[in-house]
Amino acid sequence: MRKRAAVFLIAVLPALALVGAPADPAAASSDYQRVIDITFPVGGPVTYSDDYHAWRGDGTRRHQATDLYGAKLQLVYAARGGSICRITGVTEPVGAYGYQIAICGDDGLEYHYVHLNDDRPGTDDGQGGPEWAYAPDLRVGTRVARGQWIGYLGDSGNAEDTEPHVHFEIEDPGLEDPAISAAPYMPDRLNPYPSLRQAQVEGDVGGGVLRAGSRGPAVVDWQRQLNQVLTDDVGVDGVFGPATHEATTAFQRAQGIDPDGIVGPVTRAAMVRAIGSPATTPVSSDGARPWPGRYLRLEDPLLRGDDVRAWQQRMRERGWRDSTGGPLAVDGIFGPESDRACRLFQQERGLTVDGIVGPATWQAAFAGVSAAT
Ligand SMILES: [Zn+2]
Repeated sequence: MRKRAAVFLIAVLPALALVGAPADPAAASSDYQRVIDITFPVGGPVTYSDDYHAWRGDGTRRHQATDLYGAKLQLVYAARGGSICRITGVTEPVGAYGYQIAICGDDGLEYHYVHLNDDRPGTDDGQGGPEWAYAPDLRVGTRVARGQWIGYLGDSGNAEDTEPHVHFEIEDPGLEDPAISAAPYMPDRLNPYPSLRQAQVEGDVGGGVLRAGSRGPAVVDWQRQLNQVLTDDVGVDGVFGPATHEATTAFQRAQGIDPDGIVGPVTRAAMVRAIGSPATTPVSSDGARPWPGRYLRLEDPLLRGDDVRAWQQRMRERGWRDSTGGPLAVDGIFGPESDRACRLFQQERGLTVDGIVGPATWQAAFAGVSAAT
């Protein structure tokens, strides 16, 4: 069943009027709509509405979550730090919720990320397996930092016939709010909507705020950007360790920003200005290269050719890596790793995320970047 009718472009929602003031801590456990300080858990464009009270189960229960609709393989990030207490398809079977991560937060709340991706890129085949659902190396007990990349948006479980989305739940075991204390409600589910709105208003969006301890593709991107503007390279390993922290504070000092080592909206804006200035972005020596005229994408049989090789070479030069963290293969075969890199690149550049190297994606890849400094 399609659910698009229930979804509104967030742009048309009043930006501030819907955001409640942070609740008085003393009353915190008795308000199911209280605002929790979270990082918005999906990177890139999403649509959502306040669908907490929507009926589910043929009118037997309420939704009690927020569905965040986007494109398959958009990156999903931890809203709060904690440890993984559930990860289906890894240590327990996949059920109606499909691929699902639950993080037991350090704040005593439980955060659920449901219907993560189960398809191989470019398909709806249900054959993706855990590697296309989750970030690498996640297990029950794994520590996860706030804002850390944890998985991919998708349509697994009973979302198979809906638009791809993350069903995002916040559970508070200590919640006692008369408004939801009896059926058809479960008494421990907060309404995530006001918290999601506040995170967006504050610009605290997944992939957006990085700090010491952050990991994942967003850190890789940040490290590459640092290397474009600083003379001493940091390792591009996706781990925000001491070297990245130091480079970040050096960048902030050079920009006249409070050197706190936290990559938030102000620091990001400064980086955009720094990278965008002509002095630091000479056109690459190999220059622009015309699109070869063939759409490169994951197909069966796999596409092969010099055009694929040229694009892979270019992506590798730009620092793109495969899912194991190794350099992107330049083998002239457009396989799943090429598809993955293409989608992440498209997401980063604000292009349509379809895994297809057409004219726009090709030109973006061959557009000028800084020579190594
Ligand atoms: Zn849902």
